[in-house]
Amino acid sequence: MTLDILLLGPPGAGKGTQAKRIEDDHAIPQISTGDMLREAIAGRGALGKEVAPIVERGDLVPDKLIVAVMRDRLERADTNGGFILDGFPRTIPQAEALDEMLEAIKRSLAVVFEFELDQDEAVERLLGRAAEEGRIDDDPEVIRHRFFVWREQTLPLTEHYRSQGVHVTIDAHQSVEDVYGVIAAELSRHS
Ligand code: ADP
Repeated sequence: MTLDILLLGPPGAGKGTQAKRIEDDHAIPQISTGDMLREAIAGRGALGKEVAPIVERGDLVPDKLIVAVMRDRLERADTNGGFILDGFPRTIPQAEALDEMLEAIKRSLAVVFEFELDQDEAVERLLGRAAEEGRIDDDPEVIRHRFFVWREQTLPLTEHYRSQGVHVTIDAHQSVEDVYGVIAAELSRHS
């Protein structure tokens, strides 16, 4: 059985942390578009050069570009048993493109976990991470802009997935352990 999972939620909600735990327990890959773009930027190839200024500003890279990246990624054999999407889709057109890609391979999302977190708490976490990791987009101004973009472009996905009946809300103020407890309980119904 395949286990296709999507994580939604604002920047700083802990999606990456939880994705890694799901990856370990279920042997399905975490697919983080943010990580993929940061790798491309570090590699200094054509894609990296194109997206660097956009990521640095906290804007979204064009739908067409990220959909092409995801199409390639989902064709890799390590996704045959499922995947954990973290950071994609981020816009309604991206969600529609994902629906089509999954339909073409006769798969559908098993569950969409939406992490809910106050902006103040999220900003605090991101500033802590900035001190540790030095990410180029974890500066206070850019963080504020990323929230604006998330609210305008990504929050509407909640409704998109609610209407698909696979949407589960998680209170992300809880500890990493407790958040994972909610996820594990839900996933135990799918495996
Ligand atoms: P966050 O901490 O904001 O969740 P990510 O690591 O997921 O950050 O993404 C970092 C940046 O990469 C985004 O601000 C955006 O510029 C770019 N990015 C990542 N995923 C996408 C996507 N699906 N569509 C467009 N841009 C994206």
